[in-house]
Amino acid sequence: MTPASELNRRQALVSGAAGISLAAVASQQLLAQDAQPFQLNYLLGSCMYGYTDLAEILPEVSKTGATAIDIWPKVHGNQREQAAELGENTFTSLLRQNQTSLGCITQYQLGPFGLQDEMRFAKRLGCKTIVTGAVGPKGLTGQDLKTAVRNFAEKMKPHLAVAEESGVTIAIENHGNNLIESPDSMKWLVELRPSENLQIALAPYHLPQDTVILSDLIRSLGNSIAVFYAWQYGMGCMEKLPKTRELLQMPGRGRLNFTPLLAAMKDIQYSGWTEIFMHPVPRGLPILGSTAAVTTEINRSRSYLSACLKSLDEQSNSNGPQTAGNPGGKRNMTDDKKPIQKTIFDDYNKLNPREAYVILHQGTEPAGLGGYTMTKDPGTYICRQCNSQLYKADDKFESHCGWPSFDDEIDGAVTRRVDSDGYRVEIVCSNCKGHLGHVFKGERMTAKNTRHCVNSISMKFIKKGQELPPKIVKKKN
Ligand SMILES: [Zn+2]
Repeated sequence: MTPASELNRRQALVSGAAGISLAAVASQQLLAQDAQPFQLNYLLGSCMYGYTDLAEILPEVSKTGATAIDIWPKVHGNQREQAAELGENTFTSLLRQNQTSLGCITQYQLGPFGLQDEMRFAKRLGCKTIVTGAVGPKGLTGQDLKTAVRNFAEKMKPHLAVAEESGVTIAIENHGNNLIESPDSMKWLVELRPSENLQIALAPYHLPQDTVILSDLIRSLGNSIAVFYAWQYGMGCMEKLPKTRELLQMPGRGRLNFTPLLAAMKDIQYSGWTEIFMHPVPRGLPILGSTAAVTTEINRSRSYLSACLKSLDEQSNSNGPQTAGNPGGKRNMTDDKKPIQKTIFDDYNKLNPREAYVILHQGTEPAGLGGYTMTKDPGTYICRQCNSQLYKADDKFESHCGWPSFDDEIDGAVTRRVDSDGYRVEIVCSNCKGHLGHVFKGERMTAKNTRHCVNSISMKFIKKGQELPPKIVKKKN
């Protein structure tokens, strides 16, 4: 967006000249948000303290800025078992003595279809959230995934009837190698759920560490998120690592910038729980040597998240509504003139074997100075398979990595998804889903801090002034 149009937009917001426009509503919401600063409702995960006694953990709830505890069973903790052993009355009075409450029970072993007794237990204790995982086929995409999610939601019906009766929300955590793993699976679960008592426990750890994907997901799930784990991938939690590397899962320690995520949460006025989280190796141990050290570490992350929220407030005061809450995001490109391009309904361009290897089978062409790596002419890069406009030459930069690199895409042209390696972010053409390459953030190569690393063979360069071939939308067979 150009400064001039930004100014116009602000003037419209201030004067209300646009009448009851969306922009005006948005500005009112922003004013309302300013009046009451957005805050996170912290929940303390008992397993952060391993198998420590509940009597020792409960005083830490208020010390970590939390108002409730999430009790975990073995193997991560054993506080659910402890609660059973204490008996409901003793556990309740222990909660009361520490002026806290039971906010959540994590119950993976029981699974989504085995929670009836647990929901009744939760109700008696005044607990409103149970986290578990989904059950169903794995590794699906597209319509197959949607159908599997629909089947799962259908099977949840009788269990959700009990949830409604008990006033309990069943929150399904996204997890690696699970039906509910990808952003699509979560969006569909929310879309197809038979009851609002089925929600999401969102774990960024298990998703691409990409702030655009994560914040878009938060915005689209909205307040169907019951629990947000303030937890990043770091260097993983499956292998024994030196403690400093293991702690990279904690907010503020690893590389994930939580500010855009919090911006999205602020936008939706997120009102669910936030649990600062990590897994130690092996499970069942406190994340650090003593109860006091664990609490200090959680508070370190909490300070980091507070600083992120504070930076958002400062940005929204100085930048105005359009850029507020999307500091790492993409600029709005509606003011940029896109060359005119016709659309036709036809079969896609035929691909030779080398092109098909990269575009259809996620191959990678060798690094080097060939292809478009060194091309600097003004113009547009389009999709080899469908001619969609992907990148402008203006956004190309020299990364010295051996592949053409761009720090921005043409609005809506590129779709991000989790690579089959489960960690990198693959980029595909939004129109034909042809493979382009990968996108990386946080390398600080350009001001936008983003690098689309694209195979030359996935694109075709159209020099400025040359006519663009028509974009092909596949005709239905
Ligand atoms: Zn395409």
